[in-house]
Amino acid sequence: MRDPRFDILFEPVRIGPVVARNRFYQAPHCNGMGNLRPQAHAAMRGIKAEGGWAVVNTEHCSVHPSGDLMPEVLQMLWDDGDIPPLALMVEAVHEHGSLAGVQLAYPAYYNANRMTRDVPLGPMDRPVSGHHPVQVRAMDKSDIKALLGWWKAAAQRARKAGFDILNVDGNFSTIAFQFISPRNQRTDEYGGSLKNRVRLLKELIEATREGGGDACAVSVRLIIDELFGPEGLRAADEGIEAIGLLAELPDLWDLVVGTWADDSPTSRFAPENDHEPFMTGIKGVTTKPVVGVGRFTSPDTMASLIRRGVLDMIGAARPSIADPFLPKKIEEGRYEDIRECIGCNICVSSHFAMTNLRCTQNPTMGEEWRRGWHPERISTKSSDATVLVVGGGPAGLECARALGQRGYQVTLAERQSRLGGRVTLEGELPGLREWLRVRDWRVTQLDKLSNVGVYLESDLGLADVLEFDADEVVLATGSQWRADGVGRAAFKPLALSASVPVFTPDDIMGGNIPSGRIIVYDDDHYYMGAVIAEKLALMGNNVTLVTPAADVSSFTINTLENIRTAKRLYERGVGMVTHMALAGAHEGQALFVDARTGATSHRETDALVLVTARLPRNELFEALSARLDRGDAGRLRRVSRIGDCEAPAAIYAAVYSGHRFAQEFDNGHPTLRRERINLAT
Ligand code: ADP
Ligand code: SF4
Repeated sequence: MRDPRFDILFEPVRIGPVVARNRFYQAPHCNGMGNLRPQAHAAMRGIKAEGGWAVVNTEHCSVHPSGDLMPEVLQMLWDDGDIPPLALMVEAVHEHGSLAGVQLAYPAYYNANRMTRDVPLGPMDRPVSGHHPVQVRAMDKSDIKALLGWWKAAAQRARKAGFDILNVDGNFSTIAFQFISPRNQRTDEYGGSLKNRVRLLKELIEATREGGGDACAVSVRLIIDELFGPEGLRAADEGIEAIGLLAELPDLWDLVVGTWADDSPTSRFAPENDHEPFMTGIKGVTTKPVVGVGRFTSPDTMASLIRRGVLDMIGAARPSIADPFLPKKIEEGRYEDIRECIGCNICVSSHFAMTNLRCTQNPTMGEEWRRGWHPERISTKSSDATVLVVGGGPAGLECARALGQRGYQVTLAERQSRLGGRVTLEGELPGLREWLRVRDWRVTQLDKLSNVGVYLESDLGLADVLEFDADEVVLATGSQWRADGVGRAAFKPLALSASVPVFTPDDIMGGNIPSGRIIVYDDDHYYMGAVIAEKLALMGNNVTLVTPAADVSSFTINTLENIRTAKRLYERGVGMVTHMALAGAHEGQALFVDARTGATSHRETDALVLVTARLPRNELFEALSARLDRGDAGRLRRVSRIGDCEAPAAIYAAVYSGHRFAQEFDNGHPTLRRERINLAT
């Protein structure tokens, strides 16, 4: 039963001519499927509607070829040929009684028009972002008139596709905001005063209204604070005033803060609801519904924001990815079933990889159409096979949970006295606390499955596994960090003399911690090197992070964390040295080779922490495979590996691996459905 204090979340909200059935608003988000994989995109959005999101938006949808963001996989409404792929999504959303919204956008400084080769247009003559050797041409009046025409035509097409809500995107990457920002230095009636700078947004809202007609609502997604100091738009100065100037013109305001990295910070750097200070006061300047985001997963936070009059609708991208059924679970009072987003931004990284959306918490995300996976449902078992899963990290937990959901008799054995594997250990590192949700959600679900037995402090060897007599054994025994220097830069173990004590992340997480001057050598390039350095610095050590890469934690550019990572290390007093590959250690010194010049150098150190690569823990796999090969494994018919024990990777890959095994168990290996290009005749 739902707690009555959450009833407020299920009140309908009028948005101009349409009504949202509750206050849950799936904010626009990239997904790597978009216009290139429209069936996959539609299926994913449809599942959001099924899960109870009253409004389901697309991602960025370009209105004209001169606003081309390729190769980023997004949407477009350049001509009528773009209508059918989007109509598919609308149909999927309407099927579940939700409203479909489209985010009309024109990127200006953000795009180099790499596909169309049109000259990009924007407020001023200046280079596009992303260091492409391309400049934007300053728009004259005729360009602005043309833009309004393209915009209206795109709105007409959106209406034809069946959308209920047409959104004018005033996000960091789009033209409306680039005109509003005080960084707009135009001297005509589109520059200077705030009234002049909001003129384009006003005209875009009007063009959308004209194109959409009476049946469509018009919403605006706008940055209210650029987080760019005095040179940028600030909520308290002009941000709220800008909304006041156009207060009643759109039917809904969807407000964001800063760039994508600010709008979607990871949990390492920002807690849930970190934008609230910027939202305060907005309701005083408009009577229209206001939406905000903040990685909301707590029904208490959501209800409080509505009750206190900060927001009218709960906007969410990542929480809707981690759990498309979040609204339904609150509606039904199943709070403990909410699969809470951990704020890792692996989802964002799939946009940059231009591949189907993926999520650490929700392994079915992006797989709805091509694999037919559903976040809540799974096929029932097709045999009476018994399964022993060895290892209770993310891979083993998810595998046991999903096999259990299918109805199999499963036993999960874990060597330690607690579940979670690497997540339990890494969750204790600075900033990674929310990652424990990967373990906690699965443990809660396992507790509900009477057909899954969980055994802690069960360190299984070959004889134990054979004695257990299961039909199938799945090894999820994880991996361990290497201590020999082998990684991306080094293929052979390095000469490391005992005069420099060597540690690995396993040592640090296990409490075996050095002190004094410490070099953390990061040839892994994701978060581990930086969080270990941060931990050691917080303990009062003199820490230097050295990496052969050109940047610190370079993969985190894909999770929008790289700038914040460097800033945090700087604040903690961690020295950062790039372009240096470790070559060995002797006489209290670490030896490096400069990746640019080949020159060698030495650094004195009391300890070396190697964050380079991991080795799968697969001795049990080899031993069992040998017995199976000899036909001497009793009833056991197969041994399989999942997660890090097969090939170490990030946590999302371990969860996915466990889930995939469970999905395909006894079901063969279904082929991956692909969306093929239909050759023009
Ligand atoms: P993954 O990310 O692939 O799930 P983890 O390293 O997080 O891998 O988890 C592996 C888990 O397997 C750890 O909790 C570890 O204690 C457990 N484990 C490893 N070997 C055995 C074994 N022989 N018997 C039982 N548990 C094991
Ligand atoms: Fe949240 Fe991470 Fe999933 Fe993105 S990938 S939705 S941040 S859990």
